[in-house]
This record gives sequence, structure tokens and C-alpha cells, in this order.
Amino acid sequence: MTEEVQKCKHPACNCAAPEGEDYCSEACEDAGDLTELSCQCGHPGCTPL
Ligand SMILES: [Zn+2]
Ligand SMILES: [Zn+2]
Repeated sequence: MTEEVQKCKHPACNCAAPEGEDYCSEACEDAGDLTELSCQCGHPGCTPL
């Protein structure tokens, strides 16, 4: 059984999304339609400067 890690669909996000989810967090889901330059999910390694 292999658990595949699905990447968050947010273009600026490098986080992994939970299984069955398109985005890693609500922040990314909210920004999904927008082309944000930075991710607001707040996950380590994925915070805007
Ligand atoms: Zn992120
Ligand atoms: Zn994300």
C-alpha cells in the first residue's frame, strides 16, 4: 500500500494536500482562483517573506 502525496493545487504552494483534498489548507482553497505570488497557508517552509 503506497500513500501518494498529492501536491496542493495552489501555484505558489509547495505543501502536500491531504488525501482527497485539492488544497493543503483553507487559505490555499480560498486563493485557488487567484494567482497569488505567495502562499498564505502558514505551513513551515511555505511562508511568504
Ligand atoms: Zn503552502
Ligand atoms: Zn497549499
